[in-house]
Amino acid sequence: MVGRRHKNKLLRSSAPFRHLGEEDIFRRYAMDMRKHAVSHRGYHVGGSGIGVTKDGRYVPLSGFNSKGAPGPRQPGDLCAEMRIIDDAKAKGCVAILEMWVAQPPQPDDFTGLDFGVAISCGHCRMRYRKKELPNKKSPLKRDTKINFIDSTDERRWRAFTVERLLRVCS
Ligand SMILES: [Zn+2]
Repeated sequence: MVGRRHKNKLLRSSAPFRHLGEEDIFRRYAMDMRKHAVSHRGYHVGGSGIGVTKDGRYVPLSGFNSKGAPGPRQPGDLCAEMRIIDDAKAKGCVAILEMWVAQPPQPDDFTGLDFGVAISCGHCRMRYRKKELPNKKSPLKRDTKINFIDSTDERRWRAFTVERLLRVCS
């Protein structure tokens, strides 16, 4: 029970960021990360995030997508979300509080559902479901919030927790 309380306490900590107005900085950071993206079809995704370490330090995270050729995914083809998770692991984060992902809008690739903004793709969702959530050491949590931003119109965005995202796309 102590472990559970401890974890929840970490996850509640994202509110101060909004109070300090830092959410805008992370949105801008996600937009800026698009310049690192590699896409054979010009689909550039940038991402940012906030992780927290075991001793309670906040750590900025980043990611971008890369898919150099059409067809099946090749080794090294990664989504921005996957890179943010890997970045969190490399930096010793025990939890990712929040992510921001900026990309052009498109319907979901696996379900065809249209949320007005693009959401994590089917490959990402499979990784969340099969690899990250079952692993207690993964920094990705059911409560990790993902903000999906329309990179063509930043006023348009939607947020989901990982749990909710997996439920609506199941
Ligand atoms: Zn993906």
